[in-house]
This record gives sequence, C-alpha cells and structure tokens, in this order.
Amino acid sequence: ARAGGRGTARRHSQSAGDEEVYVAHRHPLGFVRVSLTTRSLDEIVVRAQRDVLVSGLLAMLGAVAFAAIFSRSVTRPVAELRDVTRSIAEGDLTRRPSLASAGEVGDLALAVTQMADQLGTRLDALEAEELLMHAVLESLDEGLMALDAAGRVVQINGRARAILRVHQPVPFELPDDELHEVVSDATASALRGESADPRDFSLRGRTVSIASRPLSTGGAVITLQELTALRRLETVRRDFVANVSHELKTPLTVVSGYAETLLDEGIAPDDRRRFVQAIRTNASRMQQIVDDLLDLSRIESGGWRPELANVDVPSLVTDIVMACSVDASRKALELRADLSSPVGTLRADPTALQQVLRNLVENAIRYTSDGTIIIKAERIASGPAVRFTVSDTGIGIPEEHLPRIFERFYRVDAGRSRDVGGTGLGLSIVKHLVEAHNGDASARSEAGRGTTVTVVFPGTPV
Ligand code: ADP
Repeated sequence: ARAGGRGTARRHSQSAGDEEVYVAHRHPLGFVRVSLTTRSLDEIVVRAQRDVLVSGLLAMLGAVAFAAIFSRSVTRPVAELRDVTRSIAEGDLTRRPSLASAGEVGDLALAVTQMADQLGTRLDALEAEELLMHAVLESLDEGLMALDAAGRVVQINGRARAILRVHQPVPFELPDDELHEVVSDATASALRGESADPRDFSLRGRTVSIASRPLSTGGAVITLQELTALRRLETVRRDFVANVSHELKTPLTVVSGYAETLLDEGIAPDDRRRFVQAIRTNASRMQQIVDDLLDLSRIESGGWRPELANVDVPSLVTDIVMACSVDASRKALELRADLSSPVGTLRADPTALQQVLRNLVENAIRYTSDGTIIIKAERIASGPAVRFTVSDTGIGIPEEHLPRIFERFYRVDAGRSRDVGGTGLGLSIVKHLVEAHNGDASARSEAGRGTTVTVVFPGTPV
C-alpha cells in the first residue's frame, strides 16, 4: 500500500489464530487496513453458489411450467377438434367443436361444424326416405323380395316373410330346400335380365304365385301372392257346381224317363199311377234340394241376420217333438224331449232355431232304425246361453267322417242318404244358422251305437 496505494495479503494471523485476508489502503492521514477471516469468505461464496443454483432451478421450473401451459393452450383446440371429428366419424352427429376463435384452427372448427350439420341433414333425409320405403313395402298386400346377383335376399317385406316362412335378418341365403328350388326356378330368367310373368308354384302344400323382374343394378325383384285360399275356394266352387248338377241329374233323369213312358197310350192304369207317383217323389226331391240351396245361399251371402226374439224353449222343443212324432212313429222310434233342467227363454231367431232343431231331429230319425231319440235343452251355467243336444241310437258316424259332416253335400253314405231323402245340405245349414248367432255346432258319434249333435246358442245380441 505504501508503494502503490493499495495492497493485499493472505496469511495466517497470530492474533486471530486463523487464515485472514488483509487489504491495506493508503490515506493522506495514514493507512487503512482491514482483515477478514477466510472462513467467512468461504461461507459467502458457498451461500452465493447456493443462491445461484436455487434461483437457476426455480427459473428452469418456471420456464418448463410456462412452456407447458403455452403449448397446452395451442394444442387443446386441435385435440378437441380431433376428438369431435372422431366422434362424428363414429356416428355421433350431436357433437360440435366448442371453439369459436379466430385463425386457422377456428376456421377448421367452423368447417367441421358445417360438415356435421350437412351430414346430419342428409342422414335425416335418408332415414326419412328409408322409413317411408319400409312403410310402403310393409303396407303391400303382396309379398316383395329383392335378390342380389348372387341370389341372396337383400330386401324382404313382412308379407313375403309370412308366405315363405323365413325369419332371418337380411341379407341371407335361401335355405337349400324346396323354397330355394322354387325361388331359383322363378327367378332364373330375371337374374339373366328377363322378366317372368306370374306362375303358380306349390310350396309346402300351399299355392303361391311368383312373378320376377330383373333389377337394373343386377339381381331381381320378386312379387309373391298366396293363392291357397283362392284356389281352395275355386275348388270348392267347382265341386259345388259338380255336386249340384249330380244331385239334380238323377231325379231329373227319372222324371223325364217316366214322363216319356207315360206318353205311351197303352200303359196299364196301375203302372201309370206308379210312374206318376215316381215323378212326384223325384220332383219333390228336386224341390227339397233347391229349397235347401236357396236357404244356404241366403245365409251364406251374408245378407241374412238373425231377428232375435225371446223364444220359450220348452214349448219350442215340445212343438218339434209333436211335429216329428209322425215320422218317428212310422219307424217305431221313441222320440222325446228332456226338459229336466229349467231353461226358460232364449234370445234367438225363432224360425232359425226351429229349423236347426228340426234338421237335427229329422237326421236322427233318418239314420236310426230302432231305439230312442232324445232332444234335450239346458241352460249353461245359469247364463243366457242354451245348449241343445239331439241324441239317437242309430247307425252312428265313423270317426274319420265326423270332422266333415258339416260341409256342403258331405255324406257318409251318399246312396243311403238319398234313399232316406237327405240332400247332404242339412247340417251345413244348421252350422251356418248357429254361427250367425255366434253359436257353435258339434257332433259326437260312435259307429253302430248312435250320434249326439250339440248346438249352443249364446243368447246374446249378435
Ligand atoms: P243329409 O241330408 O244327407 O242327412 P246332412 O248334412 O244333414 O245331410 O248330414 C250329412 C251326413 O252326416 C249325412 O249324410 C249322414 O251321413 C251323416 N249324419 C248326419 N246326422 C246323422 C245321424 N244322426 N246319424 C248318423 N249319421 C248322420
């Protein structure tokens, strides 16, 4: 310090007993000398180092946090856009990006919103169109089915499913059976591009009309119509005409034969009387058939409605027994009424009820050679319905014929029925009259032992 104005030294201090740093400074008045132990200097350096390290670390953490926050604010809208577009792609058209900021990301969000809106509108329109098409297809009375070029069913309405009895969801292959055979037969030409007019096919015991047209996209569209009921009706009508002609032919032949014979002058008076008698019998037989047919057609046409009145059942049954007793006694049959349970009145058409019971009693007399015929009336469970049973001890009806005896012209033994004056229409008329009252007719029988025919009149308004 003396030489240069300022001097430093670092040495062991005898008085302080440790290493000291000395700094001396020259002053006009003398020298200023300060000393500082090196230990406190080291402490200052270490503290300063630590402070630098801590503040450096803090600054780094701050920078990382700031960077994270900043980058999130940039990527969040993009990530949201990604999630929204993914949801839209997966079919959730209700989602929209919430972003409304300016810039490219904002434009992108707006474009995604518009795209989702348009997609939604188009899908709604498509759905409405599909619903309408489905409703139209299902409302068709005809069965409708579309096949692709490989012959697979790609569209089918409920009616076609009912006709073909298939239940799988589309698309499906037709089962490799009769159905497959019929459909491929009917569609072969359509799959080649040619139309085929309706043709009748027999499918699992039913008659189905199938028409096919080629589709412009390849494949074919098929229309199906169930004709079983129609064909059955046609058969019934044909059989009916044949039956009527057959029934009338025999008596007509007899009548015209005898009439021709009667033209001969030289016939003995006895023969003449016999022939006239035969003509009369056959004419009345034809009259009976025509009357029964007229009754049947009147009831079947649907124009006939029962005119309900309060019928006193015991007196009606007694009247019928009286009216038929002549025929019964001619065959030495016992005919009686069973009115053991109180019946009272029944609401029914009196004429129809009388015709039903007369028919049943006449049948019982016709097909019984000896024994008893009982006509019974009883109230069912003290309600308005009344059950009538006509039972006989006659020839009975073999079991296999029982389900069909209520059909028109159905007879177990046609020759026998004709011989005893039957037309084959009696039970059919009975069934129609009873059903017009919402009632029920049935028969039980044992061949050779007798028959019981039951009719139930509900006694309620029809
Ligand atoms: P039909 O005029 O021939 O008697 P129906 O329709 O009354 O015709 O009866 C049909 C057939 O049912 C009869 O031809 C007969 O074979 C049988 N049938 C009906 N009632 C009886 C009965 N009480 N006993 C035996 N057979 C019966």
